[in-house]
Amino acid sequence: MTTLYFDAALLPEGWAPGVRITVRDGVIAELATGAVRETRDEHHRLGLPGMSNLHSHAFQRGMSGLAEVRGPGSDSFWTWREVMYRFVGRMDADDVEAVAAQAYAEMLEAGFTRVGEFHYLHHDAAGMEYSDIAELAGRIAAAAEITGIGLTLLPVFYAHSGFGGDAPTAGQRRFANDPDSFARLVDASRRILADRAGAVVGIAPHSLRAVTPGELQDILPLAQGGPVHIHVAEQLAEVEACLTWSGCRPVEWLLDNAPVDPAWCLIHATHTSPEELAGIARRGAVVGLCPVTEANLGDGIFPGSSFASAGGHYGIGSDSNVLIDAAGELRQFEYTQRLAGRGRNVMATNGSTGRALFDAALCGGGQALGAGMDGMRLGASADLVSLDMDHPALIGRREDAILDSWIFGARQSVIDCVWVRGKKRVEGGSHLGATVIAARFRRTLEGLLAL
Ligand code: ZN
Repeated sequence: MTTLYFDAALLPEGWAPGVRITVRDGVIAELATGAVRETRDEHHRLGLPGMSNLHSHAFQRGMSGLAEVRGPGSDSFWTWREVMYRFVGRMDADDVEAVAAQAYAEMLEAGFTRVGEFHYLHHDAAGMEYSDIAELAGRIAAAAEITGIGLTLLPVFYAHSGFGGDAPTAGQRRFANDPDSFARLVDASRRILADRAGAVVGIAPHSLRAVTPGELQDILPLAQGGPVHIHVAEQLAEVEACLTWSGCRPVEWLLDNAPVDPAWCLIHATHTSPEELAGIARRGAVVGLCPVTEANLGDGIFPGSSFASAGGHYGIGSDSNVLIDAAGELRQFEYTQRLAGRGRNVMATNGSTGRALFDAALCGGGQALGAGMDGMRLGASADLVSLDMDHPALIGRREDAILDSWIFGARQSVIDCVWVRGKKRVEGGSHLGATVIAARFRRTLEGLLAL
């Protein structure tokens, strides 16, 4: 049992003074506000709930910064993807685990306490199944265990290189399954995580490019009511190809042909019409925004304020992991809205923008990752963050102004400690295993980049 005392903390109903939390079996078993601090309490000044990172491809952390070089022609998502395919072609199972552990340690240091791993790297470098089809899913689970981050594992179904069932390319052979082998993979993933408290397994049909309608129908029951994530409408070329193939735009096709509901998370949904936005909101699905990656890849700008006005839910993800930073994702999202609309404080309804962004991403991220209750409340997983109130960016700030100054005004991280299921994983801004995890990452990267 652990007891934590925060001078102030952000609860679902708002800021509260004197918050005393008792953690039992990883869960908030008691929560008192206006409480008196007891000598055995671990004391912190400011507490926040941990944020969900709803979309990650952990292995891509290893190639961060390596695709920022222009070739002779114009550069785009598709040339980035070629760099990614070359990098992934060199990785073995140990490499995947080492890079994922580094990514997850960084996520915890950034205030993310759960990750949705959109896991599509399944086979060996020759595209052959490992003797255990879930070998690499197991490596992802191991990286989550080493770092302590909460895991929603989303094994990806990937079968085709384009709309209409085109065969996968050589660069995609490590990702490809048919519905039968995918069912074995999902089963094995459930076995790996069966005894892991708080772990969730969902599924991720990769995109409408990579999955035929028949296959989508075949694999959906494997989700067993858990999360279903899909990349959709990230690129204009994808929208055009979908129109050619089906006469519909990608989100339109999904809403017309798939049982999209609150268990679904539509990743990116960048290029969507007002009707599509309203449709997503009506069905209660979450849009998974990855603003830093979307900016890095030049995807376009999600119509955030129209979606929020339609009552839509969104969360944030670090996707390519080019830079892992919860505050940075929220800031990038708001700033792209400001630039597109030539206005300020776009995503706020009335009052603090930081608070509006934080609350929306906390709630949408929690829904998308299917882990039950989120936020600092009785019965929820004790996934908590404390901030360093001596940080120059936070001096004299109270309540919502703390979130605004963290998201928009802090050059270095303001995060002090991070707990997952009540176990402290980050202290003084550093992951408690950072030295060992970073040393292994260094050896791995030096090996991969020497090839
Ligand atoms: Zn992605």
